[in-house]
Amino acid sequence: MSERLRIIGGGLAGTEAAWQAAKRGGEVDLYEMRPRVTTPAHQSEELAELVCSNSLRSDSMENASGLLKEEMRRLDSLILRCADETRVPAGIALAVDREKFSQKVTESIEKNPRITLHREEISSLDETHPTIVATGPLTSPALSAEIARLTQGKYLYFYDAISPILHGESIDMGTAFMGSRYGKGMEDGGEGDYINIGLRQEEYEDFHHDLLHGEKVALREFEKPVYFEGCLPLEEMASRGKETLAFGPMKPVGIEHPETGETYHAVIQLRREDLTGEYFSMVGFQTRLKYPEQKRIFQKLPGLGKARFLRYGSLHRNTYINAPRLMRNTLQLKRYPNLFMAGQLTGVEGYLESAATGLLAGIYASQHLGGEAIQTAPKTTSFGALTNYIIETQTKNFQPMNINFGLFPPFQGRVPRKERKKRVTERSLQDLDPWREHVQAPPE
Ligand SMILES: Cc1cc2nc3c(=O)[nH]c(=O)nc-3n(C[C@H](O)[C@H](O)[C@H](O)COP(=O)(O)OP(=O)(O)OC[C@H]3O[C@@H](n4cnc5c(N)ncnc54)[C@H](O)[C@@H]3O)c2cc1C
Repeated sequence: MSERLRIIGGGLAGTEAAWQAAKRGGEVDLYEMRPRVTTPAHQSEELAELVCSNSLRSDSMENASGLLKEEMRRLDSLILRCADETRVPAGIALAVDREKFSQKVTESIEKNPRITLHREEISSLDETHPTIVATGPLTSPALSAEIARLTQGKYLYFYDAISPILHGESIDMGTAFMGSRYGKGMEDGGEGDYINIGLRQEEYEDFHHDLLHGEKVALREFEKPVYFEGCLPLEEMASRGKETLAFGPMKPVGIEHPETGETYHAVIQLRREDLTGEYFSMVGFQTRLKYPEQKRIFQKLPGLGKARFLRYGSLHRNTYINAPRLMRNTLQLKRYPNLFMAGQLTGVEGYLESAATGLLAGIYASQHLGGEAIQTAPKTTSFGALTNYIIETQTKNFQPMNINFGLFPPFQGRVPRKERKKRVTERSLQDLDPWREHVQAPPE
């Protein structure tokens, strides 16, 4: 490789990207602004600091995050190697001693002769120089302004407003019903796109009372200015008036029960979240209710008595771009092919997913610098499924996502639900191998 690769941000994604590029012969300049400038959540000057929980989630292959870990281990991930070496007992979860973990990552980067670590804040980007931007959910304000410039402003977001996602099979369809508002798209006998839950007046009033009194996560000081009127949390809307929700995300107009013709005081709609139709998100239900409270309150709703949650709702500070509009599946910005994005900035959610996109960006940028065509990970692997989600999602409100089995492409023909995870895992690891051979680093 001729040119040096710049990587901005020494977090989970940036360190992994630097490691992968250096393995492939690249000369890397890694820029980390701490300790000179810090973020509102980081506490130390170590690289790859875990800002909250010390868990990288399940390590079981029964779980999509276990599969992603296995793929990362097969690509010699620095983050996974350091996590395995500093593991603490936590059942099937991969939890780490956070200080030892970050120290190990820092040492590995500092000792690598191909990586030069600069403790410096970067506030402008040179679109002509090969660069990976991995500055995370708390990207410094100066660089955020620069990213906004390069992404036409309106495609850069500053917080997550996440609605809960439920397993469709856990919803009682004897009570809930399919349909679309005003029967849109159902003219030729279709069942409609949404699962609907109708609430009678008394049920709505109970729900409103629960929202007002349920326990909420306190906002940190730096998260207070994040609301904007288009995306208020459920409980905030509830506090503005008893009927605010019934005129907002729970408006009942144009919806009636397809068999009984009943209309409702308020309706909750759930939208399909994945290609296989296994998961449904509660539309407009971003919330700061604590997770056990979400379970307690939402399970009281008609049809949701046994609802299982794939993801709970949340609302927190997070800088990320509208990847489906701006990025290619090579993690390059469409307009600026020398600029690669990695980590939480791309719209993935979580330590593990951030590191995984860092790993991919390190490989892809190495291929780009070497003048090769970029060979992307197959869509059937968890690397590919995760990238596919952030590139292909067709929603108006693009929201960050963790890896999960619903992101993988469906099989041709019917696969019994019980066998699906096993089949996805087998296919993923089988398809990973030829790609891995192709992008393998040369032996040291
Ligand atoms: C408060 C909070 C709590 C979270 N808790 C969890 C959790 O418990 N579990 C989980 O899985 N995920 C959690 N996340 C989400 C996410 O997984 C982590 O933030 C993760 O660290 C993201 O990885 P990253 O590499 O994209 O960013 P980071 O790990 O944050 O790395 C980015 C790095 O870039 C540096 N930087 C920023 N701007 C500049 C600049 N201009 N120049 C140079 N350096 C710069 C930062 O100092 C930082 O070291 C949390 C996020 C936040 C904000």
